[in-house]
Amino acid sequence: MQNSLTIGVLALQGDYDAHAQALADVGATPKLVRAPQELTNAQGLILPGGESTTFLKFLEREGLLDSLREYVATHPTFGTCAGCILLAKEVLQPAQASLGVLDATVERNAYGRQVDSSIQIGETSLPGGPLEMVYIRAPRIQKTGKDVEILAERDGFPVLVRQKHLLAATFHPELSADRRVHRYFVQMVEEFAASRFGSSSRQKTTDQP
Ligand code: GLN
Repeated sequence: MQNSLTIGVLALQGDYDAHAQALADVGATPKLVRAPQELTNAQGLILPGGESTTFLKFLEREGLLDSLREYVATHPTFGTCAGCILLAKEVLQPAQASLGVLDATVERNAYGRQVDSSIQIGETSLPGGPLEMVYIRAPRIQKTGKDVEILAERDGFPVLVRQKHLLAATFHPELSADRRVHRYFVQMVEEFAASRFGSSSRQKTTDQP
């Protein structure tokens, strides 16, 4: 891919390496983010799965919480599982702090404990047919606001949602061989970059012979 997009992956905890690999597989350049200054040239960001309470502790300790709040309010960000919990405006079971940008209520560990983790094949509106979804102590999106588009559901609850520049999944797409969800996110980042800088960034590549 020409002018490969640099996309950050929060690398404090959880399965960030698998996300970095998935991004590389779809032609983006992953960049591990562990400090606020590492966000500066990231055109998008992935908040991986892990444990949201641990993330919150690490984010505070590394001084990243405020910079992340600013970043996710204005840049394409994809939260998976614990990352989805971090993005949500409201978190239940128990209530906890978050970045508060995704207009959704998310209930932690809603499908039971670790033993209840599962792999399902579900319908999605992403092109290409049913999608494998790996759930690990997954949260459930109980409620979404009007600007939230539902891209996939499980038992009538959203599991993949988009709100403008934000994407969130309650499952782990990085653990499946299917790269459609990461490709979709990279397209969101591309569109965002193009709309922000007008057509100039695209122009450069198309002007070349
Ligand atoms: N249960 C975790 C939490 O509440 C999320 C699990 C995951 O990211 N796989 O933070």
